[in-house]
Amino acid sequence: MHLLRPYPDELVGSMLNRASRETGIPMKRLLPLLTGARITSHSFVMTSYELLARSYGLSIEEFLLDHTLFPYVTGFMTSQGRERITEKLVSPDGSKRCIASLVQNATRSVDKLRFCPECCVDDQRKYGQTYWHRTHQLPCVYLCSTHWTPLHVSWISIQCKARISAPGETSGDELRIPKALGYELARRITEISTQALSQRTNTTPLVASQEMYQRRAIELGYGLSSKQVFGSVLSDDLRAFYSPRFLTSVDCAILRGTVPWPSLLLRQSSQNCTALKHVLMIAFLESNPSPSLCPIGFLRRQKAKKKSWGSIEEKAIQTMSQLVASHRAAGTKITMAALLEVTDIASRYRHQRSDFPLLTEWLKKFKASPSSKRQTEGHPKRN
Ligand SMILES: [Zn+2]
Repeated sequence: MHLLRPYPDELVGSMLNRASRETGIPMKRLLPLLTGARITSHSFVMTSYELLARSYGLSIEEFLLDHTLFPYVTGFMTSQGRERITEKLVSPDGSKRCIASLVQNATRSVDKLRFCPECCVDDQRKYGQTYWHRTHQLPCVYLCSTHWTPLHVSWISIQCKARISAPGETSGDELRIPKALGYELARRITEISTQALSQRTNTTPLVASQEMYQRRAIELGYGLSSKQVFGSVLSDDLRAFYSPRFLTSVDCAILRGTVPWPSLLLRQSSQNCTALKHVLMIAFLESNPSPSLCPIGFLRRQKAKKKSWGSIEEKAIQTMSQLVASHRAAGTKITMAALLEVTDIASRYRHQRSDFPLLTEWLKKFKASPSSKRQTEGHPKRN
């Protein structure tokens, strides 16, 4: 089957729709012809059909790199992780599930197709028609990376199964940059995301590993030691930086009571995090944040709070018992205050008696014993 060559940055869904429009063959009949599979619909952003790639004169690897969101989704994985996914994608058994998870990762929080009116004008002039670009569909990307103007959002779902029009023949509303981001941050997020999309497999991944995050976080003062990063302070600061509302709107909420995703990114287990989380983490670390809490001081306070007073209490009782015994042997008495003074916890005991039930009990018995000297003793007693 003879088909036109795809346009630069054209998405697979756009190519298929264009082919259907240009040949007049309905999608349901066209798809089996192009893919060799008995399918009636195809993802707009991803594929695994080698035959489809060949119909366009490309290898599946070339097709994935230039006409799907594959490089974006896998852009933050290690080269081994990426190879594993490629293998699964082209294997007959794993392909379906693999495609579903890649599509979900790539289009989370994006539900309608987007376009840039200025790109439409350029494409119309250059190619005589308009098409759907990959770079316009990335999550959290509100700007066109060519014109740096806001994208427009159409009414066409990214999961639309019916044949759709070209963006030049579609209407749409201008995408608003969320207040929490502002233009500069929105621009940087666009740059990082576009860079991930334009990667090539033979180059090193955008992010070597979690080591880069750790190193940067430590430089910024989020380190507990030269090797350990304080994930919970960093997560709290990232949450405040983007605002919880914005993070929820892009499906990246940081939930309390679970390991926050920025902490996961600092660990080995970051393979399962979506590409968008990596993008947000990179932009946050680049903004030169300073820790809202000194991690070491914070941890010390936490430890002090959790400190068990049980053993300290026992030690104090032991010390006091020895002192009482020596007074008893010498036939002398001692006041309760003087006795408490020999322990390390006298002042804490006075302020927080409820923390020391054993000590309170012991002192009560001591007070009733003959060794106890009352504060008033020594003064002349009135009989
Ligand atoms: Zn544009």
